[in-house]
Amino acid sequence: MSDTPTTPDRIVDEARRRRSFAVISHPDAGKSTLTEALALHAQVIDSAGAVHGKSGRKGVTSDWMEMERQRGISVSSAVLQFEYSGAVINLLDTPGHGDFSEDTYRVLAAVDAAVMLLDAAKGLEPQTLKLFDVCRSRHIPVITFVNKWDRPGREALELLDEVEQTIGLRPMPVTWPLGVAGELRGLIEVSTGEFTRFTRAAGGATRASAEKVEADVIAAEEPDFWSTAQDEIALLAEIGATFDEKDFLSGKATPVLFGAALSNIGVARLLDALVELAPAPSEREDAEGRPRALDAPLSGLVFKVQAGMDKAHRDRMAFLRINSGRFERGMVLTHGATGKPFATKYAQSVFGNQRTTVEEAFPGDIVGLVNANALRPGDTLYSDDAVTFPAIPSFAPEHFAVARTADAGKTKQFRRGIEQLDGEGVIQVLRSDLRGDQAPVLAAVGPLQFDVVAARMASEFSAPIRLDVLPYQIARVTDEAGEAALSSQSECEVLLRSDGVRLAVFSNKWRMEVILRKFPDVPFEPLLAGT
Ligand code: GDP
Repeated sequence: MSDTPTTPDRIVDEARRRRSFAVISHPDAGKSTLTEALALHAQVIDSAGAVHGKSGRKGVTSDWMEMERQRGISVSSAVLQFEYSGAVINLLDTPGHGDFSEDTYRVLAAVDAAVMLLDAAKGLEPQTLKLFDVCRSRHIPVITFVNKWDRPGREALELLDEVEQTIGLRPMPVTWPLGVAGELRGLIEVSTGEFTRFTRAAGGATRASAEKVEADVIAAEEPDFWSTAQDEIALLAEIGATFDEKDFLSGKATPVLFGAALSNIGVARLLDALVELAPAPSEREDAEGRPRALDAPLSGLVFKVQAGMDKAHRDRMAFLRINSGRFERGMVLTHGATGKPFATKYAQSVFGNQRTTVEEAFPGDIVGLVNANALRPGDTLYSDDAVTFPAIPSFAPEHFAVARTADAGKTKQFRRGIEQLDGEGVIQVLRSDLRGDQAPVLAAVGPLQFDVVAARMASEFSAPIRLDVLPYQIARVTDEAGEAALSSQSECEVLLRSDGVRLAVFSNKWRMEVILRKFPDVPFEPLLAGT
């Protein structure tokens, strides 16, 4: 425990040092590689590959972990914390791949910035766009990192143009590559013209060595690449692509950096950019829109609840983002939703398969709370001064399946289990009179959520289920008029979510367009992300 006195000044100073962010990307863009490269900078892991356990995982503690291990995926959240350049960096993992789920989106409720990672050959991809939508809706500033510049890809200007045209975010390059993708010589610092050469070691070693080289020296060595880069940088200045902090923080523009995570090119520069440019935690607004001062008594938002991390104890771990005050292990907090006390004797930080006890934490930090069976994503915890933070929205489901009990004698357990998992936010549960109570429709952002429900129903509630996938891909929010209109249409239906929202679900975009045109006066509002 720290002996330093906890003054309001200290809390604000500590908060100011925090940089809490997540990487948003499409599978294979290099998120794991970048996370490992960042972790190596912090020296928190000793060999690449330890982050997600892709190359063997030690300390498997539950079926859950087994499920992860077999599939090479990461269900449990990794929060990597390290000090860099006087700052405390919190990197929150956003599960992607097959494990894409509502949790992936919810993580974005706990960050102050995001790094949008693009594959230089592919540019913006569907999953990146969905996650970007969530960043935009939450006003999260985005730094762009164009990865894999060590191999053939598209042109830098073309990629920037795509970002601007597709998502309306004005690119502001911070570094500029010397050499085309696949023939990268180094990076030019746009504001100063300084050049850093990267030389990749021959053979197995993947980390490139970096050295500062005078402009005239590199200009003589690489005259063609140099003059092209200078022309491009001049063009960028002409079109006003220079850095503007206000536009970055308000989500109108994005600083852009280039590199190759695999060869450790541009990774340190990205860390510097996070420290220099990304915002520290600021006062978060409560549900009434009142900002909560950073040095107010402790408060935080639960953004993720992970079940089954330790099968022996059937515990749940809740991940709390601290919004104000100083967290000290052992404090007794109030759970806003129930008004009940919550003891924080077991507070941990979780990173891959490593867990360490957290003694204290400050705004921007993430604390894993064990024994959190009553906590749900979106819940607030606080110490003295009551506060409620805005709920985390539900996101647009794209996968639908009917759940039925696989054992006719277990209907009670079935109902209880579905209700519990719905309440926990593991899955969205939809119903209709037509389908009846014994056949609810489960709606998910990613198909992994179905596997999680099936596994937990069987193991925790002794109620094995059968799932029949429904041929729907898209959902919109509608009302009673929509319900009436769709009752006579095919390849769609209206279902009631447990929060009372009516969701119109459609087999595909084209079918939806036809129906929207048929009923121009009926509301069919898009949900966040997806659609
Ligand atoms: P994720 O799915 O976004 O986590 O992507 P990974 O980090 O697993 O990377 C996907 C593939 O791209 C792997 O084969 C990586 O080795 C490769 N990769 C990642 N970064 C780079 C890079 O900077 N350059 C090259 N050439 N390959 C990379």
